[in-house]
Amino acid sequence: MAKAQRDYYDVLGVGRDAAPADIKKAYRRLLIKYHPDKNPDDPAAEEKFKEAAEAFEVLSDPQKRQRYDQFGHAGLSGAGVHDFSGMGFEDILSMFGFGDLFGGFGGGRRGRGRGADLQTEMELTLEEVATGTERTLEFTRQDYCDECGGTGAAPGSQRQNCRTCGGYGQVEQSGGFGLIMGRVITTCPTCRGQGKVYSKPCPNCRGTGLAPKKRIVNVKVPAGIQDGQAIRVRGEGEPGENGASRGDLHCYVHVRAHEFFARRGNDLVLSMPISFTQAALGAKLDVPTLRGTATLTVPRGTQPGQVFRLAEQGLPDLRTGRTGDQYVEVRVEIPTRLDGRQEQLLRSFAETEDKGVLPESKGFLERLVEYLSGMEKKNE
Ligand SMILES: [Zn+2]
Ligand SMILES: [Zn+2]
Repeated sequence: MAKAQRDYYDVLGVGRDAAPADIKKAYRRLLIKYHPDKNPDDPAAEEKFKEAAEAFEVLSDPQKRQRYDQFGHAGLSGAGVHDFSGMGFEDILSMFGFGDLFGGFGGGRRGRGRGADLQTEMELTLEEVATGTERTLEFTRQDYCDECGGTGAAPGSQRQNCRTCGGYGQVEQSGGFGLIMGRVITTCPTCRGQGKVYSKPCPNCRGTGLAPKKRIVNVKVPAGIQDGQAIRVRGEGEPGENGASRGDLHCYVHVRAHEFFARRGNDLVLSMPISFTQAALGAKLDVPTLRGTATLTVPRGTQPGQVFRLAEQGLPDLRTGRTGDQYVEVRVEIPTRLDGRQEQLLRSFAETEDKGVLPESKGFLERLVEYLSGMEKKNE
């Protein structure tokens, strides 16, 4: 290369300490400015376009940039920098274009051609929440087609320019060149932004390179996870465009209602029936916990609805790991049926209280006999 070369930083219009993001931004701006669609048959624009691509190739690569910084253009011989002068626009764009060059108007997509996120659900028991667990999920996702290895090409097929987008990988939703007028330009649906298609599409995936595939993923469920939270499994979503990263799998958690325990944050609440004599006289109770049983002493004179705390018998906190408590609310049960001796004792007890209680209720047959004999007397 005998021709004098401009400084790459000058070409892109950035400082020597420019961050990679700024270099990208500057290149993008030039790509749009000198894009062949905007400058048809303009050799000067084409020259600028290629110059920008070359500068970008060097400055976007940390190793090449370092060599250039130290030794200038001379440092790059043998560094594998492309000679863009003989290359067409399309080839340069496919090499150093951006999938979302005109994006930002269409909106919606995260990252450059990043694959779609997937969602799934799992149901957990409170016991599993307490200890944490591991689940094996099986699901079907769009994945690289096995027949063509994701290329979308049938065997022996040729790579050719996409007719829908003319090889640019982008299509406009309404006419004219988009950026300045603010029209929406999106990824070409035919070539999915590649600019190229195969002459014979793969019959299995119809040229998309993607096909539904079963996937088995192990998901670690951390202890203390809350109902409705999602576990993100990175990179288990659908594949991205042009080798961009896969999306993520979001696994939403549902915690099944427990037979005994209600959850309040990291605490558990248990409603525990006790007899009125236990409440009055005090008792040692065997109380169920998520891990087994615990002993709870209720003192004499315990009132209905009184709440006792069993420290650290709750659930671990997702972040700190600190264990919550279990609260036991006592429910005093009044007997609905008393045998003869119990009735006698209670009546004696009532007398000591000097409180009026209803007289002993008579059995049904007894009352029936009384009723009938009363009728007889009336009829006499
Ligand atoms: Zn296309
Ligand atoms: Zn295929």
